[in-house]
Amino acid sequence: MSAPSGDTAMNPAPIDYCSRCGKPGIAYHDGKYWACPACGFVYYHNVAASASVIIEHDGFVVMLRRNRDPAKGLLALPGGFVDPDERAEDAAVRECREETGLAVTATKFVGSWPNTYTYRDVWYKTCDLYFSAVFSGDLSVFTAEAGEVSSLELVAPADFETAPIAFESARRALIAWRDGQ
Ligand SMILES: [Zn+2]
Repeated sequence: MSAPSGDTAMNPAPIDYCSRCGKPGIAYHDGKYWACPACGFVYYHNVAASASVIIEHDGFVVMLRRNRDPAKGLLALPGGFVDPDERAEDAAVRECREETGLAVTATKFVGSWPNTYTYRDVWYKTCDLYFSAVFSGDLSVFTAEAGEVSSLELVAPADFETAPIAFESARRALIAWRDGQ
């Protein structure tokens, strides 16, 4: 059996047949889209936006130990994917509340860094947006989202380069935030 056309090593999902005409030969092009040579169907695998918060607390930054893949067991900032029709600022606050129970305010854009996020059989190119945020309460209200987060960890800014951080985009954001203070 011959391999499907296109560069399968670069194919972000196991899509071998056109979803419109059902014929084989649909191929992924330019790291951006699938196109079916039989019927002309085109589907863009667009960059997905994520939004995360950098919360300073007593000189440390609040991070979460991931309890699911990808990167289970490593540290991440509170955050997640932006929903359709949602502002990134609101997504960052919402995801933080869902993952930690912490209500943060006063988000300020730090910057964006690209990332690749693999989930099950699909990988996504992401645009990871980072915001600094203020949490003025007591961290004892922290509640780990079941299945997503195993614990809250406080990371010293001096350890950003070496901490077991899940995504390099977050490491770069933390360093940029620290050095821009
Ligand atoms: Zn087709």
